[in-house]
Amino acid sequence: MVSPLDDLPIREDLRGQKPYGAPQLSVPVSLNVNENTHGIPETVALAIVEKLAQATIGLNRYPDREFLELRQQLATFLGHSLLAENIWAANGSNEILQQLFSAFGGPGRKALSFSPTYSMYPNIARTTLTAYVEKPRNPDFTLSPDLIVSAIREERPGLVILCSPNNPTGTPLSLDCVAAAYEATDGIVIVDEAYAEFSDRDSALTLLAGRPRLVVSRTMSKAFAFAGARLGYLAADSAVVDALRIVRLPYHLSALTQAAASAALEHSELLLQNVQKIKQQRDRIIEAAKQWGLTPSPSDANFVLIGGFQDPNKTFEQLLAAGVLVRNVGIPNTLRITAGTEAETTKLLAELALVLD
Ligand code: PMP
Repeated sequence: MVSPLDDLPIREDLRGQKPYGAPQLSVPVSLNVNENTHGIPETVALAIVEKLAQATIGLNRYPDREFLELRQQLATFLGHSLLAENIWAANGSNEILQQLFSAFGGPGRKALSFSPTYSMYPNIARTTLTAYVEKPRNPDFTLSPDLIVSAIREERPGLVILCSPNNPTGTPLSLDCVAAAYEATDGIVIVDEAYAEFSDRDSALTLLAGRPRLVVSRTMSKAFAFAGARLGYLAADSAVVDALRIVRLPYHLSALTQAAASAALEHSELLLQNVQKIKQQRDRIIEAAKQWGLTPSPSDANFVLIGGFQDPNKTFEQLLAAGVLVRNVGIPNTLRITAGTEAETTKLLAELALVLD
């Protein structure tokens, strides 16, 4: 039984909309969604399974709604004198963002970000009935305090989202920009640091003290190589966490997710050991692209946005035919490529060289 979606009494603003998501294709070299392409080390995998086994015995009960053990571990991992009460977690940082929009956005409220940026922000705004506006970044994708402050004065948003390093451009953000945004608004300022572990710069965590409306969003999906487990988290004043408790679904973080994340955090050093190698591969991609006369954007993340392609769709298809999946994010003449293992980068660069020939 198949009837067209449009026949259903779906919300008017969702009519004609498509689900978000990059293609999930089975290819030898998959560099399209900024995962950490290194697998979980076996010792960590075994430690996770052991914790999962213990948690499984108790699955007849609902999980710990407050997941204080995990929040304490995340606080310890982040440092900066953060306590468990400053931490909240959810099924990926997408859910963290959705909870933030649910609590602080909504009808009559507006969210502001700076394009090009993470394409889920407008989707989350739409789902939560929050108005959404993007102001353009500088042509080199950077932001300045002046640019941010004048956008805030013009738009009067209740939520400002600054992605640092920015997806899909890799652009870092100075802490001056975050501080200036905070001063310019009475609203919530979210710094989305999904890729922070790949950057050598100071985190916005250093600005949290004394700024109760500042939120730093993080994830275990990227540097931690834990995308499949779905664990995103935030650090903020404990009052922000209190607000999110009102909008979260009861028991949103399953006992299995809590156990897996907790075991992973006990081995954070091992899980993060490939970050340095990934940064080297990122810089290798940038150097090669420059040699070929392409224009890679400077990146503080685990991916590179490369400009200078005459026909990015064609290049995308040629790479795919050679078994290498990258991402066309729709910025003219560009492709976004995740930095994978050394072998994956070697394959990528070899195929890209052939395509460019
Ligand atoms: N923020 C940014 C900037 C991202 O690129 C992503 C993943 N693509 C996310 C948040 C969400 O990641 P997750 O839900 O896996 O934590």
